[in-house]
Amino acid sequence: MKRRFDLKGRAIRHSQNLYSPEVPSQDLSTKGQLGGLCNRSACLAPNATWYNWGSLAHYCFDCACLLNWDSFNARDAFKQKGMALCQPTELTSEYEKKYHERKSTRYANDLRLHEESRQRLGLSVSGA
Ligand SMILES: [Zn+2]
Repeated sequence: MKRRFDLKGRAIRHSQNLYSPEVPSQDLSTKGQLGGLCNRSACLAPNATWYNWGSLAHYCFDCACLLNWDSFNARDAFKQKGMALCQPTELTSEYEKKYHERKSTRYANDLRLHEESRQRLGLSVSGA
């Protein structure tokens, strides 16, 4: 069996917890709430200012972008509601809102052009 050592080179006994017990567990009480921690468990960044109408929870800007512009999510969300999955709230910064508006407008336009060309070619509306 491989022996393990701590940062000072001391051997760690098997019975010893490898994870430091001094690290306080994070308070997750605000997870997914507006202005709280991002709802994505792999993230948990503070300042969740984006609302996801699919999961009914709040996310940070980075995760909102990941969720919004994933190719499957984007098409599904725009077909269902004509908008991306995560939407700005009253706490979202103006910069993020502007970025989102530009990207959403472009996406909706591309999707419309795509459907129109499929119809012209006599193909069924994609996804239907
Ligand atoms: Zn996040």
